[in-house]
Amino acid sequence: MAKVFVITGPSGVGKGTLIRMLLDRLPQLELSVSATTRAPRPGERDGVHYHFLTREQFAQRVALDDFVEHAEYAGNRYGTLKSELERRTAEGVPVMLEIELQGARQVREKLPDAVAVFIAPPSPDALRTRLVGRGTDSSEEVSARLASAEQELAAQPEFAHVVVNDRLDDAVEELAGIVEAALS
Ligand code: 5GP
Repeated sequence: MAKVFVITGPSGVGKGTLIRMLLDRLPQLELSVSATTRAPRPGERDGVHYHFLTREQFAQRVALDDFVEHAEYAGNRYGTLKSELERRTAEGVPVMLEIELQGARQVREKLPDAVAVFIAPPSPDALRTRLVGRGTDSSEEVSARLASAEQELAAQPEFAHVVVNDRLDDAVEELAGIVEAALS
């Protein structure tokens, strides 16, 4: 089976930006498109950024055992569909999952060979600055995300690989090193 990579860490830490830069550098990697019940943000497209599902659709897919992992996060449900993972790994394509902590723990149980990397902020304050600054979330959502972030940061010691996203270029370099080593 092809390699599975899990990138986790609190919301606002810059996982998305890091992954985009990593995928530019390592085009053989593919990002799994998650399912969510969250409303699309401006510019987000169904099937590209997420598979946007209603709560009912999501619950049906859970009942059908369609998810590798799923979690409730800041008032919405998120999950990795087995179909997203299996199609790629069956073709030998390494897959990257960008998921929150509860999902990362489920993947660790189910796929012990997956390589998980925790992305940490240079300081807890940096998260607030970024979450407020990107302007995509309401103040209630920012609060919910910061509350989750505390628990997520406490889980950092569970991860063999931790990349501190201080200078973006350095963080990409470090992440690419971990991924390349696992692929070779
Ligand atoms: P956002 O709403 O900002 O796109 O994502 C919120 C959080 O959900 C982020 O930490 C993101 O990594 C996580 N997330 C995105 N997709 C999934 C998924 O499929 N499973 C889990 N467990 N978390 C996800």
